[in-house]
Amino acid sequence: MIHVRTAAEVDTVGKGGAIIAGLLEELPARISPGVTTAELDAFCEKYIVSHDGAEPAFKGLYGFPGSVCVSVNEEVVHGIPSAKRVLADGDILSVDVGVRLDGWCSDSAWTFPVGRVSDEATALLEITERALEAAVEVALAGNHVGDIGAAVIRTVEGTQYGIIRELVGHGIGQDVHEEPQVPNVGRAGHGPLLREGMILAIEPMLSAGSPDIRTRRDGWTVVTADRSLSAHFEHTVGITGEGPRILTRVGAQANAVHNAAEGA
Ligand code: MG
Ligand code: MG
Repeated sequence: MIHVRTAAEVDTVGKGGAIIAGLLEELPARISPGVTTAELDAFCEKYIVSHDGAEPAFKGLYGFPGSVCVSVNEEVVHGIPSAKRVLADGDILSVDVGVRLDGWCSDSAWTFPVGRVSDEATALLEITERALEAAVEVALAGNHVGDIGAAVIRTVEGTQYGIIRELVGHGIGQDVHEEPQVPNVGRAGHGPLLREGMILAIEPMLSAGSPDIRTRRDGWTVVTADRSLSAHFEHTVGITGEGPRILTRVGAQANAVHNAAEGA
């Protein structure tokens, strides 16, 4: 079933979301050539648990060994932190963070450049972030889940980028993954109706080449089949009477989409 949450519950998800937002703001200063993904994982865990009652929601989820997912270059999602994985100049790194606070979950991901990256990588990051923005803008009561995937398609249409279809966003609340699934490809006006109080993790993943994926032998790491670069941007979004509320962004930024929509 698709849950509809009270305003107070949405606020609580936003409290955990603000911790993620703060962490993602701290990360660029820590991401540089020579750093290992295990070091970043340790930093993230320490940051999360330094907030009263907060814990990393992904640790142990379905048996995942890390506190956050760290996915480099052709890795799309679910990369396992490792002391052997040393970041190099020119890499791109997706960090996917879940926080559980007072029984409520929030989920956000961002892809960062490591040192100096290629123009190709920069363009991929920019278009994937734009796809997320476009998808969030249509997370409105009265729209449908399909409008979200349609917005991702509109962003990417006419480019060479691939939309990873086999991985989807999701409802989120007392569990990290709840109904409905939120595909990154969709048809406007199709799929479940969006209603005030629903909370969705919206998370487009794009590739610079083929959108086909496979899972590595570690059982976790999802990579592009052609080893092309992949980027992932995600926000947890509450559907409110005043429009989409980004719960994984801090302060005034959180209502940026809403304010832009109003022309305020
Ligand atoms: Mg995530
Ligand atoms: Mg997610």
